[in-house]
Amino acid sequence: MNSLLALTPDELRSDFAAAGVPGFRAAQVASWLYARRVRDFAAMANLPRELRATLAATWDTRTLERIDVREAPDGTRKLVLGTRDAARIEAVLIPEGRRQTLCVSSQIGCSLDCSFCATGRMGLGRNLRAEEIVDQALHACELLAADGKALTHVVFMGMGEPLLNLASVVQAIRVLTHAEAFALSPKRITVSTAGVVPRLAQLGAAVPVRLAVSLHATTDALRDELVPLNRRFPLAKLLEACAAYPVARRDRLSFEYALLAGVNDSDADARSLARIARGARAKVNLIPMNEHPASPYRRPSEARIDAFLAVLCEAGASATVRRSRGDDILAACGQLGALSGAQAGATSADASGR
Ligand code: SAH
Repeated sequence: MNSLLALTPDELRSDFAAAGVPGFRAAQVASWLYARRVRDFAAMANLPRELRATLAATWDTRTLERIDVREAPDGTRKLVLGTRDAARIEAVLIPEGRRQTLCVSSQIGCSLDCSFCATGRMGLGRNLRAEEIVDQALHACELLAADGKALTHVVFMGMGEPLLNLASVVQAIRVLTHAEAFALSPKRITVSTAGVVPRLAQLGAAVPVRLAVSLHATTDALRDELVPLNRRFPLAKLLEACAAYPVARRDRLSFEYALLAGVNDSDADARSLARIARGARAKVNLIPMNEHPASPYRRPSEARIDAFLAVLCEAGASATVRRSRGDDILAACGQLGALSGAQAGATSADASGR
């Protein structure tokens, strides 16, 4: 059965038109689904009974099953969701003041194998379909609605490399930004990439979302080691593609930079990073390494993190430290998919006692 979550309300309207169903019915269905989070056609009371039956026989509105929700003391919630083919994916809901940001996954696992990232250790299972990306947002909205809250931002920073699943990611973004669906401004959606250079322009041409680039190193020698994709698309090419990416006025790209103790956290590293960031007119998001059992890298001391930030800012870069959220439930950057099931429960207890 096809999933209705893969369609924008406009596409549903065309589909209805082809079947002789009036267009306003599509808006009604979208409103039940996205404004009221009613997935069951039988409960869509203002639709004719016969249409409800036809829709139920044609369309599916649930692609992911909620398996677990783990909440960290800081309010971050990790949603563990099950796919139809019995895989598990994770999405993370992060409250920040009035913002409610959802970090979504775009693939089951990841093929890039960055040396410090837990998801990379899993290898690639498969691409997620557009409806599976949209469903992560719908699940998040269901949770938020229970607290009288709404989703405000989406970041593609969960499992997977979004630009290696571009068609589904773009289609999901069309649904997330559609006025009759999630109605999120594209400026509130950020796609993060490890640097699949030829796809940057394709993303920018398809949807005007914000771009984050996972830089992590300022030389090819080190970046080759940390982000193996760099061997195909070296820094100079990546920076060229960044310069060509359409950035909204008064906005900037972001560079993510995982701080790894003794690897990329020296004062000299901070100065080269500042030079690159200024050249690219990008702001820098420092992410102190989130440690996990599958990686030998360590997080620098708080003093080193502060010093790195100070050198960076002194050298004229605009930078912040992302004090990662949800570390104690293995929901922080690069920890998704680190472990599963009971094992993860045991490890999150260890981690919070650290
Ligand atoms: N594949 C995309 C999307 C993932 S975003 C990308 O690479 O951008 C997840 C972010 O967390 C990336 O910047 C990633 O490099 C970073 N990350 C991965 N593992 C990490 C870890 N252990 N500690 C801190 N950041 C990590």
